[in-house]
Amino acid sequence: MVGKRLIMMGPPGGGKGTQAKRIQERYNVLQLSTGDMLRAAIAAGSPVGKQAKAVMDAGKLVSDDLLIEMIDKRLDDKDCANGFVLDGFPRTIPQAEGLENLMANKGLKLDAAIEVRVPDEKLLERLTGRYTCAKCGEGYHDKFKLPKAAGVCDVCGGKEFSRRSDDKADTVKTRLKAYHAQTAPLLPFYERKGVLKVVDGDRDIGLVAADLERILGL
Ligand code: ADP
Ligand code: AMP
Repeated sequence: MVGKRLIMMGPPGGGKGTQAKRIQERYNVLQLSTGDMLRAAIAAGSPVGKQAKAVMDAGKLVSDDLLIEMIDKRLDDKDCANGFVLDGFPRTIPQAEGLENLMANKGLKLDAAIEVRVPDEKLLERLTGRYTCAKCGEGYHDKFKLPKAAGVCDVCGGKEFSRRSDDKADTVKTRLKAYHAQTAPLLPFYERKGVLKVVDGDRDIGLVAADLERILGL
């Protein structure tokens, strides 16, 4: 394997979370989704959540300083010791530079940044059809990933599901703009560092996963 400190990159709805969860389950590394962390902060009513909520609802990016501090603290937790897959972070050049500094301070090396590449025209359908189990968070899709038994979560048997409020068409458009303007410039940034790996994400979930395993040498 190339190593166990990875970044999962790509547009909203590209399949970052889906693939990062698979890597977590199979290779004993922790998936760290900054979107999930921020949604948990909102649900808990914490100061971070209060600061982030309006920005997230608008489909824009939360401040770099807040995100860098959040990841800096989180990587010190014991469950990150065996490795991690960052999902949704970094999303701007200052965040990528912040990550580089904080990892250097911790004596950690980034092993790979993976781009899950999906054309824009596929993303709206991916996002507007997305839902998750309210109990365990397992992800599903109206068309591309249905539970085996209708209305019952494959993983935990839960029967309640939820949809993200920012997966509405209008907000998706703002999120895609933010991706192209602020996050896509990270791809050449990591390419120059020689750690970028590209996977074609415009295929069946299982095929993308298999390709990823091959690319990472898992
Ligand atoms: P991201 O974390 O990049 O925002 P997700 O992993 O949540 O994206 O995927 C978005 C939606 O698309 C989910 O409903 C997921 O089930 C579905 N999905 C993920 N990968 C694929 C794929 N390769 N083909 C079709 N649908 C997919
Ligand atoms: P995600 O779950 O990755 O789709 O993120 C949902 C939302 O959380 C984004 O649209 C942003 O508003 C916010 N967010 C998540 N990660 C970051 C980040 N690294 N930088 C800034 N905002 C973020």
